[in-house]
Amino acid sequence: MASITHLQQCLNHFYGASGLRANQEKSSIFFRGVTHLASEEIVQKFGYSRGELPVKYLGVLLSTKKMSIAQWQPLIEKMVARISSWTAKKLSYAGRIQLVQSVLFGIQAYWSQLFLIPSKVLKTIETYFRSYVWLGENVITRRSLVAWDKICTPKSAGGLNLINLKVWNRAATAKNYWDLAHKCDKMWIKWIHAYYIKGQQISDMPIPQQASWLVRKVVEARSLAEAIQIQTRNNKSMIRQIYYKMVGQLPRVEWKVDTKCVLCQSCDESRNHMFVECEFARSIWKRLLKRMQRQSFWATSWDQHWKWAIENAKGKSSRAAIFKMVYVEAIHTIWNERNLRIFEKQSREAEELARNVACICNVRATDQTRTCSNLNFD
Ligand SMILES: [Zn+2]
Repeated sequence: MASITHLQQCLNHFYGASGLRANQEKSSIFFRGVTHLASEEIVQKFGYSRGELPVKYLGVLLSTKKMSIAQWQPLIEKMVARISSWTAKKLSYAGRIQLVQSVLFGIQAYWSQLFLIPSKVLKTIETYFRSYVWLGENVITRRSLVAWDKICTPKSAGGLNLINLKVWNRAATAKNYWDLAHKCDKMWIKWIHAYYIKGQQISDMPIPQQASWLVRKVVEARSLAEAIQIQTRNNKSMIRQIYYKMVGQLPRVEWKVDTKCVLCQSCDESRNHMFVECEFARSIWKRLLKRMQRQSFWATSWDQHWKWAIENAKGKSSRAAIFKMVYVEAIHTIWNERNLRIFEKQSREAEELARNVACICNVRATDQTRTCSNLNFD
């Protein structure tokens, strides 16, 4: 009783000097090794409420023991709440990624440094994020989507550069190990040294089996800390450093696209090539001009082609009207053929395509244009 009175006096002195008073409503007293009677007396005398161990912090238990998934539920709910609000539902894909990024940042900067979050909890959170990013929903769906691990890779490796919580959490633990090994001036570190390490070499001492789950995990992180060779500690960016070392060894994705023209297989694909220079396109134009009974013309440059097209399309004559119709249809057909070959692995001959163009134009042509022209559409 005397020691508690003394402690209260200290708090009062502190209040007198700083103006900061211990709030009786927000403070609690925790008892250990005290009879119920004595604890009752203390509660009566000082007015603080009786605290229950383990302490909850922001809804999550503060514990050195491994916690069950149910005990982590408040954290999961906090995360999901952010993506469940009505404003979140209205966001675009890019907006959803931004939101997830900011929530992730919160977990990353805060939770994962306080706790070692079990991978099952991280997986649940990530599953929510994943279906939210892709579908805008806050429910876990079973539809197969791009793996979250893939999304979390840097942009250079083809991902969206979201923080990978699992890796981040391991990085945070490795940093804790580093602090422990370097005997940083912190209370918990001194405590672990005094109780478990006791002067042993932390790098090759056995994992202290009698220690709590949390302490064991921190010591176990030594293999990771050694593998990535943390050099010097430069304050807060250390976890980030470890994290990027951990994800950094991903192969870069080369955005290598086959640039060959799929119509002729002989040159690189470009606008000029595909519509003007390409042998395949050329043979379509040739056939169409023949059908329209016009002079065969072959442009050697885009400019020349363009001038030729304008020349033929000028005016209100039915001849110009027919040309415009055929021209547009031919461009569309060439483009369509190119896409069919790339995406559907189908291909048609130039003759067939030219006939299709003629057929479509024949159907579209009004009576007037048909009678006024010498179309040879069969
Ligand atoms: Zn070509």
